[in-house]
Amino acid sequence: MFKDIYASLDPIFYEVINPEPVSKPSLVLYNNELAQQFNLTLKNNEIENIFSGNEVLDGVNSKALAYAGHQFGHYNPSLGDGRAVLLGQLSSDRGQLFDFQLKGSGRTMFSRQGDGRYAIGPAIREYIMSEALYYLRIPTTRSLCVIKTGDTVYRNDVSEGAVLTRVASSHIRVGTFELFAREESIEHLKQLINFTIERHFPSLEQNDPDRYLKLLVNVIDKQINLITEWLRVGFIHGVMNTDNTLVSGETIDYGPCAMMGPYSSNASFSSIDRYGRYSFLNQPKILQWNMARFAETLLPFINTDHEQAIEIATKIIKDIPSKFDEKYNMMISNKIGFQSSSVEIIDLFAKLTSLMEKNKLDYTNTFSYLERTLATTTTENDSQYSCLKDWLQDWDILLQKNNLDFEVTIKLMERTNPKIIPRNYHIERLLNDYEKTESLDEIRHFLDIIKKPYQMNESFNKYNNYPENFDTSFKTFC
Ligand code: AMP
Ligand code: MG
Ligand code: MG
Repeated sequence: MFKDIYASLDPIFYEVINPEPVSKPSLVLYNNELAQQFNLTLKNNEIENIFSGNEVLDGVNSKALAYAGHQFGHYNPSLGDGRAVLLGQLSSDRGQLFDFQLKGSGRTMFSRQGDGRYAIGPAIREYIMSEALYYLRIPTTRSLCVIKTGDTVYRNDVSEGAVLTRVASSHIRVGTFELFAREESIEHLKQLINFTIERHFPSLEQNDPDRYLKLLVNVIDKQINLITEWLRVGFIHGVMNTDNTLVSGETIDYGPCAMMGPYSSNASFSSIDRYGRYSFLNQPKILQWNMARFAETLLPFINTDHEQAIEIATKIIKDIPSKFDEKYNMMISNKIGFQSSSVEIIDLFAKLTSLMEKNKLDYTNTFSYLERTLATTTTENDSQYSCLKDWLQDWDILLQKNNLDFEVTIKLMERTNPKIIPRNYHIERLLNDYEKTESLDEIRHFLDIIKKPYQMNESFNKYNNYPENFDTSFKTFC
């Protein structure tokens, strides 16, 4: 069933290792829609056995992948899949290959002090968050299933273990490149580059002398797209280390992520991000930092003259902020209904976010409010938005000046601004309730709701209300 394309890489790239069996696998969540894309027609007990790791299918040589990475700015040479194994690849109904990886499947040679396991709460959280981002139209790894193991795991408290099946267009990280670059293993770097190009950028031709530069630029473009999309919906990743940066440009590692509630440009929720390195509006800067680390790994291929290679790569890295701004400015203009960007529009957006920040307005709900003010002639009597009175007038003037058709403007805003996001408060509530009752009813309901995040529906109020100060003290953990 599974292909094994990483087998074409030298064994130094991975450890071949079977998942460690679990006591009593029991299916918690299964993503039927995703399963269908891969033509998976499995019975419950087959799902439980295969995706808990208890049954190893014929021909599967599951692998824990090696990688290094910069964590909070510091190089760590020995990371790697410490609690995950790659089963292999399946082809989607569109003919694209995806990695299927078990996370929480036991110890590997990269586990260091870890137990190789995943707790049920964080596994369900990853499932919900990754699916939510997918339906928000943001590049991301996805989740096929969560299976609880019947075994105990010990974190801050005691909980049940789980195995999550992650589906990704690959697991090639910037940290994978760093591992071989630091060891000056040119042969392995070459293998990795060819593997990456074949998988993600097949249009870069083998004999094109600029293919390494083009690889760099392509990966940068994907990261720019990704981080712009995060900012559009208020996503704070929380741990943008280079080992958590996929060259495919998908979001990966949902450990400490969170969503923006009341707007704050330096919102940060991760308990270990003490200095706000990965805070909301720092994310574009970290994107540039991470891409500089990626560029360094490609230097030997960019030019035979090292000085010149540095010069060429530096220019590409230095151009990132302006390239990012172009994309970002378009996105924020779209958020307030403009199809193109201008200095006036960008200023207007900055005024809006500063009002939101000062008045603790919710990022998502404010844009929903703006849409409502456009759509109706009667003004809404919601006092929390009274601080926007003058801003609304300026907005109106600028819309008129740009001669915008209201229908078109509203449509653009509706597809740019989500109505429902996986809010910190509600995700925590769902997980706590699950722990108490083991009932999945509301989680399943919520997973349904987030499939159409750009549409108004009867759950709008329920999932957008939250205790006023909840986000102020909310913390996430890896
Ligand atoms: P992360 O902070 O999630 O990106 O993880 C950093 C490193 O720690 C990776 O090499 C993980 O595989 C490893 N790791 C995280 N949790 C565990 C665990 N419970 N057991 C073994 N390794 C782990
Ligand atoms: Mg990680
Ligand atoms: Mg993690």
